[in-house]
Amino acid sequence: MDSISNIIAEVLEINGLGAFAGCKQLEQYSRLYSEVRSANEKFNLTAITDPTEFAVRHIADSLSAAEFIPPHSTLLDVGCGAGFPSLPLSIARPDINITSLDSTAKKTAFVSRTASILSIDRLTAICDRAENAAHGPLRESFQVVISRAVARFNILAELCIPFVCQNGVFIAMKGERSAEEASSASDWIGSLGGSLPEANGFILKGEASDLSRCILVSRKVRKSPEDYPRDFSKIRRRPLS
Ligand code: SAM
Repeated sequence: MDSISNIIAEVLEINGLGAFAGCKQLEQYSRLYSEVRSANEKFNLTAITDPTEFAVRHIADSLSAAEFIPPHSTLLDVGCGAGFPSLPLSIARPDINITSLDSTAKKTAFVSRTASILSIDRLTAICDRAENAAHGPLRESFQVVISRAVARFNILAELCIPFVCQNGVFIAMKGERSAEEASSASDWIGSLGGSLPEANGFILKGEASDLSRCILVSRKVRKSPEDYPRDFSKIRRRPLS
């Protein structure tokens, strides 16, 4: 095994994610790392390129959401950037069908190209803004909608919940401030069709200091009204509160 594969295997093991560290999967994470590094030389894709940080913050963090994704789900990653969490999830969970959405074309081109280099044919990358795409054919069509590091919880929920089908889930991958961000959710999340989020806190290990993380999971209990999501200028000016 090359050194990045060893680092990733170790980091997955100490985070209780060893089940996703098979030989082929480690080769694919390692190839993903080299693709991210070489793309980063051409354009600014992600700030995280140190091997240990990559293993902890991109691979282990992405895979920490796997336990909330039911088998054989259809999944949408909103604001996927360079493909996180969708690319690591597509390696770890061959049973799920993934759509990666981002408003920046060079990022979705990277995700698409990398999926094909990794021989993953269950991932489609789309370039669009979430607030536009949510009013088209993708509306209410995914069993799981996930997002990491895109916006505060109230803004993210408005962008994501309209994509979730009845009884599906919206998963927001958050850091330390998640409790504060979700504290007012009881006042507005029902108007999007979502349930009050369940907070799943955990510690991500592998760097000099542990990182505090929280995964917020909200279930789609009824259809989202057609008015949502609003134009982004309106969402930003008057976020749900
Ligand atoms: N999820 C990735 C991660 O965790 O590494 C990327 C996070 S990056 C900080 C935020 C990404 O969200 C950017 O790639 C940006 O283009 C995208 N984004 C922001 N607002 C968006 C919107 N309304 N619709 C689609 N993508 C959006």
